[in-house]
Amino acid sequence: MAEKMHDTPMLDELESGPWPSFVTGLKRLAAQEDKPYADMMKDLLGQLELSYNTRMGYWKGGAVSVFGYGGGVIPRFSEVADKYPASSEFHTLRIMPSPGMHYDTKTLRKLCDIWEEYGSGLIALHGQSGDIMMQGCTSENVQKSFDEINKLGFDMGGAGPAVRTSASCVGMARCEHACYDTQVAHISCVNSVLDDMHRPALPYKFKFKFSACANDCTNSIHRSDCSVIGTWADDIQVDQEAFKQIVADRGRKEIIDQVIAMCPTRALSLNDNDTLDVDNSSCVKCMHCINVCTKALSPGKKRGATICVGGKRSLKIGDLMGTVVVPFLPLETEEDYEALVELGENIIEFFAENALEHERCGEMIARIGLPNFLEGLGIEVDPNMIIHPRISSYVRIDGDEWEEEVGKWNQRKAVAAE
Ligand code: SF4
Repeated sequence: MAEKMHDTPMLDELESGPWPSFVTGLKRLAAQEDKPYADMMKDLLGQLELSYNTRMGYWKGGAVSVFGYGGGVIPRFSEVADKYPASSEFHTLRIMPSPGMHYDTKTLRKLCDIWEEYGSGLIALHGQSGDIMMQGCTSENVQKSFDEINKLGFDMGGAGPAVRTSASCVGMARCEHACYDTQVAHISCVNSVLDDMHRPALPYKFKFKFSACANDCTNSIHRSDCSVIGTWADDIQVDQEAFKQIVADRGRKEIIDQVIAMCPTRALSLNDNDTLDVDNSSCVKCMHCINVCTKALSPGKKRGATICVGGKRSLKIGDLMGTVVVPFLPLETEEDYEALVELGENIIEFFAENALEHERCGEMIARIGLPNFLEGLGIEVDPNMIIHPRISSYVRIDGDEWEEEVGKWNQRKAVAAE
């Protein structure tokens, strides 16, 4: 017998605001009486209303997985299954997205069809980890639905103490600011550590995120343990004629207020003839001037990425931004991408061997000290390393031995460049 719709006065309140409510979506699924998930969604709404009333959560974990994988399914069993039997099991399958989150509509329709047949019809594109979240599935249907999703070419994402599903921005596919190919970097890094994603065996979770420029559209700097952010090592490219046109269209005052004065390092100056001078040695590659004068300015030609490690908000020791451990890694040739993959593997290996149980990479670095982390990875200390974006280097650049230290560093760089 079909379940009745429960009274949900508190959830109904959530539909009264100006924004679309998730409650409306859940009710829409519950109202589809001809679908196998209608009862599940009715009872889900009932349990949710109960949670809002009692301010208690009623989901508990358990062990549910698919053959060959140790993670990727988030099991959810209801503690109030006697009252809401149809939603007694409401597991989530984490499915890895395509890099850059590109899909064709045919694929999206197929994913929807699979989930209408085996799940609740409820899909989140995308969860906080970047996954396609197929939410609401019974234990019996977990394997069946994954087999169908797998046939479409998708793989299970990460869950538990594992390498987690990665996210990458749209990158070179559509963005003129992209300084490297996020899709290639994403797929190469993930494929090289797939075992650590499918079979959770790390001290705690580890996330990569890939942004092709410092706008950091994946928020990688504070949402990943290894953040790969596109940047450039030479001069900003300036099309002076296009810049003059922007000044003509928007007026000198607006350009001074919104471009020149907003440069955090005062690296820009507007000439009397409306052309632009850039002091590239002072530029910290924040992207502001490029964002607001897109037609006239673009990143330099020598492109690559800055690698930051240990970001996450919030950790047990507070919020951490990723620390710069590689100021500039060129990412143009196949060998460059292989170097990135190798660095990622080394960081995970070091993390696996040195982190304590339930300790994220940033916490491990804070505990053992950055010099030990760098030494473990065989990375030379570099004055361009910083602990926060846009602050001074943590490498001391004063004192009596300054000249001597600079000399040594330049010598090491010269040897590395040969
Ligand atoms: Fe200034 Fe940022 Fe433009 Fe560099 S990218 S010149 S720091 S506004």
